This record gives sequence, C-alpha cells and structure tokens, in this order.
Amino acid sequence: MFCGVSKQEAMLVPSWLESLLSSDFFSVCSSHKDSPRSECNMFCLDCQDDAFCFYCRSTRHKDHPVIQIRRSSYHDVVRVTEIEKVLDISGVQTYVINSARVLFLNERPQPKTTGKASSHLCEICRRSLLDPFRFCSLGCKEAMLVPSWLESLLSSDFFSVCSSHKDSPRSECNMFCLDCQDDAFCFYCRSTRHKDHPVIQIRRSSYHDVVRVTEIEKVLDISGVQTYVINSARVLFLNERPQPKTTGKASSHLCEICRRSLLDPFRFCSLGCKLVGIKRNGDASFILSTKNDEITERMPRRLAAKAEEELREGIQQEMYQSMPPPPHSNSRRRKGIPQRAPLGP
Ligand SMILES: [Zn+2]
Ligand SMILES: [Zn+2]
Ligand SMILES: [Zn+2]
Ligand SMILES: [Zn+2]
Ligand SMILES: [Zn+2]
Ligand SMILES: [Zn+2]
Repeated sequence: MFCGVSKQEAMLVPSWLESLLSSDFFSVCSSHKDSPRSECNMFCLDCQDDAFCFYCRSTRHKDHPVIQIRRSSYHDVVRVTEIEKVLDISGVQTYVINSARVLFLNERPQPKTTGKASSHLCEICRRSLLDPFRFCSLGCKEAMLVPSWLESLLSSDFFSVCSSHKDSPRSECNMFCLDCQDDAFCFYCRSTRHKDHPVIQIRRSSYHDVVRVTEIEKVLDISGVQTYVINSARVLFLNERPQPKTTGKASSHLCEICRRSLLDPFRFCSLGCKLVGIKRNGDASFILSTKNDEITERMPRRLAAKAEEELREGIQQEMYQSMPPPPHSNSRRRKGIPQRAPLGP
C-alpha cells in the first residue's frame, strides 16, 4: 500500500515515514532567522532528520529528495503531487485547499459531531471523511499496518535482572507493557507500575524470546507466523534466529524474509520477519480485523464487498464480545490502546 516508486526503492512503510510524521514543522530556522523564508517547512527523505528552511535546503540538502510541508488551519499537509512520487497514498482522503490537492500528515482533533453522520469514517480515528476513503491522514494509514508498540517489543532486551527488585526471587525482566511501551520489567514492577495495563509475558526457548500464542493473539494478528509447541504450550518467536547449518534435506517451507526452514506452510519464522514483510510488501497485517478484513479473508472479494455493509455492524458486535479491543493507537503521539465505542472504557 505504501510503496510509491517500486518495491525495491520504496518500502511500504519507508524508513523516513515515521520521522516525517513526528517532525515539528514551521519553527524558525536558527541559522537563517533574519531571512524572509526561514520557516522550517522542508523534510529530507535522505537525511530523515529535523525540518529545515528554504536556505538550508539549497546548502545542506542540495540534490536530496525533499518534500515541502504546508499548513491548513494549523495542520501539516503535503501536496499530493509531491508525496505520491515517493509513497503510495491510496486510501487516504485528499482535499483541495487553495486550488492544490493535499493530504494531512496526521490525525487531527475531531470536530464536535454535528448530527448528520458521514457514511465514510477513518478506520483508525473514526473521523468523518468526505469521500469513500479508508484513512483521514498518512498517520492513520500507517497505524493500520503496524501497532505502535510492536517495534518496541521486538527491540526490547528481556531477562535482565530488575534493578529495583534484584533481591527478590522473580526479578527477571520478562514483561512488556503495551500501554507504556518502554523497557522490560519484572513481576513486582507489573503489580505496581503497570497495574491494570495490558502486559504480555516473554518466555525463553533455547535463549530466544518467545511469547505464548494465547497471549499474543489477543492483541496482534499473528496469521502467517510459524508456531511451535514448547513445554506443552504453543508459542512463537519474537525475532529471527541465527540459522542452523543446512542439513541436506531442504524444507519446502521457507520464511519469506530470512529463508529459515519452517515446519509447516507458514510465511514467516517470527513476528520480526512478519514486520519486515509488511513493511516491504503490505500483503499482511498485524491489526486484528474489526470489520471487512476478517470477512474478506473468508469469502470471495466480490461477495465480501456486498456483504460488508450488511454484516459490518453484526460482525463487529460479535467480535467485540469474543475478543479484547484492537491494538490501534489513535495517535502516534498518544500512548495506550484506545477502545472503540462498542466496548466502552
Ligand atoms: Zn535554515
Ligand atoms: Zn538531506
Ligand atoms: Zn484518522
Ligand atoms: Zn521490578
Ligand atoms: Zn504500563
Ligand atoms: Zn524469518
């Protein structure tokens, strides 16, 4: 979905996207503050660092791919003609502002509901859309693919000893909080600092981090990832592992990313490889379906489209009863797992 140029050149979630979406634009450049065009409204896809001004562009970012951010009612927008060259913006609502077609970088505060409900809502933040698009902004489109806490989970170091509880028996840091999304912590920290937060427990198998399927499948779509039964519990690996020497008999199932042999016809050896696969190709998702995705997997597309409207409400209700809220983050700047209306707080 997010691949603009080609699959080789642009990933579905290119490395610069997160940085673009979290940059602060329109401050005054400290190097050029006495010049007329000194507001920092440029972003460099190569350097991927802070916003910069017109003059910085012609010096420090000469010949780099740069996009210009504009403003509409104090919100950052970008011209479709610029962004569509480097990103697949399909599904994102565009607007014509000052006779140029633009789209918003991030979710905006919601206007008060006005009575007449739109039939098109952003799938992430539920903002009313003008046209039948799926997302209000690039930020919401990105949030659809990968939950905000996942990268943090996959890069955390587990099983060190908790510095606050090192004299207690259960002090190894084997817990991760989906709300706080910070370092691993221990059993005792959980009951104090992360009381009532959604926490998952990491386990070990031959020195590799695993998580029980029963825990992770509540918050993540793990389809396509090889699972294993270890100590009579079904688990999956967080990350790619070093490959064993090839033994002659090749498996017919290989991880699409790291080429590890798999036992069963799965696509990925681990959550980490699935994440790479999503970023590269976008033909998988981590987000638990709350509506059409769930349906389309099980029936032909033509049928699904027709049935979607009718089934949406009913299916959504059923799934909410059997499943915890989806791990959408409403905003990259806000932490936590907001729950959708049907469940209440
Ligand atoms: Zn400057
Ligand atoms: Zn640059
Ligand atoms: Zn949105
Ligand atoms: Zn602790
Ligand atoms: Zn927490
Ligand atoms: Zn792999």
